[in-house]
Amino acid sequence: MKKSLENLSRCEKNLSENNQEFCPYFVKSLRNISEIIFTQESLGKNFQKIHEVIATLLPVDGLTLLLYTDSFPSSEGEYHFPKEVSKDMAYLRTQMIEHMLEINKPVTSIIQSSDVTSKSQHVVPSKEHTSYIGVPLQHQSKVLGVLIAYHHNGHFCYQAHHEQLLIFIAQLLSLSLSSLKQQQEMQTAQAQLKAANEELEKRVEERTQHIKAANSVLEQQILERIKIEEKLKHDAFHDALTSLPNRALFIDRLEHTIKAYQRQGSAEFAVFYLDLDRFKLVNDSLGHIIGDLLLIEVAHRLLDCVRPSDTVARIGGDEFCILLNEINSLQNMQDIANRVLAAFQVPFEIKANSIVSSTSIGIRTSYEGASSSEEILRDADTALYHAKEKGRNNFAAFDDTMLQQVTRRILIEELLHEAVKNDEIYVYFQPVIDMKSRRILLFETLARWHTNEHGVIAPNEFIPIAEETGLIERLEQCILRKALKNLCLWRKQFPQLNHIGVSLNISSQQFMQNTFVDDILMTLKKYQLPSSCLYLEITEALLINHFDAACTALKQLHENSVHIMLDNFGTGFSSLSYLHHFPISIIKIDRSFVNHLEEQDKNFSLVRSIKTLATDLQVKVVAEGIETSEQADKVQDLNCEYAQGFLYSRPIHEEDMEDYLKNCERWHPELN
Ligand code: C2E
Ligand code: CA
Ligand code: CA
Repeated sequence: MKKSLENLSRCEKNLSENNQEFCPYFVKSLRNISEIIFTQESLGKNFQKIHEVIATLLPVDGLTLLLYTDSFPSSEGEYHFPKEVSKDMAYLRTQMIEHMLEINKPVTSIIQSSDVTSKSQHVVPSKEHTSYIGVPLQHQSKVLGVLIAYHHNGHFCYQAHHEQLLIFIAQLLSLSLSSLKQQQEMQTAQAQLKAANEELEKRVEERTQHIKAANSVLEQQILERIKIEEKLKHDAFHDALTSLPNRALFIDRLEHTIKAYQRQGSAEFAVFYLDLDRFKLVNDSLGHIIGDLLLIEVAHRLLDCVRPSDTVARIGGDEFCILLNEINSLQNMQDIANRVLAAFQVPFEIKANSIVSSTSIGIRTSYEGASSSEEILRDADTALYHAKEKGRNNFAAFDDTMLQQVTRRILIEELLHEAVKNDEIYVYFQPVIDMKSRRILLFETLARWHTNEHGVIAPNEFIPIAEETGLIERLEQCILRKALKNLCLWRKQFPQLNHIGVSLNISSQQFMQNTFVDDILMTLKKYQLPSSCLYLEITEALLINHFDAACTALKQLHENSVHIMLDNFGTGFSSLSYLHHFPISIIKIDRSFVNHLEEQDKNFSLVRSIKTLATDLQVKVVAEGIETSEQADKVQDLNCEYAQGFLYSRPIHEEDMEDYLKNCERWHPELN
């Protein structure tokens, strides 16, 4: 609009220069035309109004505006007033338009009726001629269309000033129309731009939402992944049952502690290696579920004993390890060990079971140096072994002598393999004397091992190693064979000694073998010996740890007339209640009691009460380790049926037995 008004001002200027007298009204009219064009309504609707304004400026019957549109020639860009005309008039208009298009410059002309008649064959209008002015609409040398004004009063003809006037009007129309077109194009462009922007914004928004949704899914997946990874990491380093750190994590922490200790000389630390005493018994008697619950409860109690900075780990079945990061002194470490032992004092209440449990603890501190985690754990394990040896519910701290023992143990283990393989273990026999008849009841078979490099190795040392390494089975079979073979020989050589028997020390591992009873019975058979000549010496610990197996095996042997003896009585639980469960006919009172049998000594009264009880239960008693005649007298006073010890005879090499038996008339007057 602004631009068209500027154009209008330019027209006004032109006009006033050329035609002074029309000026004010003309200008006003031109303004009107411009305003009409710029109203919102379509040109078609307003064309009559344009006609009306033009009619005030020059005589005009009809007005035709032809705009060249993209679809030209078509009726789309054609505006007429009046709209409804006769066919002839329409033909006349077409003639005028065609003429204009042909010459394409302002023209004032007349169409004669005869022209029409000749060209169109149409009925000639009543008027004689039609005068018209045609003006091309041009803007910036571009032809926009044509404006034609016509009059069909036969007497009127348009003059040059009319033409001039229409040229001005046409100029204004051109300007206004092209401005309007520009404006419309601009508006369209703006609308398109706005639509495009909106579309873009919409797409951006959609895309943003899409990305947001994708991001949140991704975030969720990442979170889940992190969770899974954390769980995997946790599982890899924790025990599934108790949720405590596992062996791998414990070693990792221990190594960190060792490094810090080596680098900065940080605080002294200690490792506790724990093993529950008799946990297997809980598992076997109450089942694995109760066993598992007990382990969980143990984990809680252990955690309660230490500081949060310490590490409690489960490193195997019933084995736990504690890493104490800071200990002030050995006393401090002992206090903690006592606290752990005390934590087991209260029975564990698990599913209506009141379980009494205890633990043994092996301790290795940094006071002994800290080189590697393997070494520290190995030493703690060694100390644990010693704690258990001391009698469970105990702790032992690692020291150098333990290391020497371990080294020796490893050496013995190696040598023992060879010795058993090469049948280098031989037997000694030590008699058990019947106090009343003064005759030999039996010979206890004692294993012996002589090595070239390390001299004699005592059975107390190599038997436990044989048990742990599984060598015991072969070893005991060999000892059984040797014992019975010797007995068979003696019987043949000294038929008067047919009542004599031999006893064998039985290790716990033997009960675990299915062939245990059969082996014994078959060997007896092999040497044609009656079962009643064989005595088996078993310990309380063996009965406790292998209760069921012992029950079955001993019952079977007893039924076959083999005698069962309870060895080392008084050193273990010293409960005669076993005598009800097992077919035991003789108990051997340990030599530690016999050693101090002074009248006032409490050992004396203890042995006396054992003897009384045994008599009630019709069980006979052997007093072991009699070294002096005083001891022998005491034992006699206590009415112990049998005695054994250096006083009567030291253990005798199997090869010396023949000589011994020949010369033992003191115990066997009938031999002579
Ligand atoms: P144990 O069954 O208590 O055997 C008795 C031990 O006491 C023997 O030691 C014997 O030499 C010793 N002894 C006998 N009388 C006296 C005495 O008056 N004073 C002293 N101080 N000692 C006496 P040994 O032969 O060294 O055997 C030690 C242990 O080794 C045995 O104790 C037994 O538990 C085990 N053992 C020995 N031979 C065998 C075997 O063939 N199989 C099994 N499983 N264990 C065996
Ligand atoms: Ca024995
Ligand atoms: Ca004994």
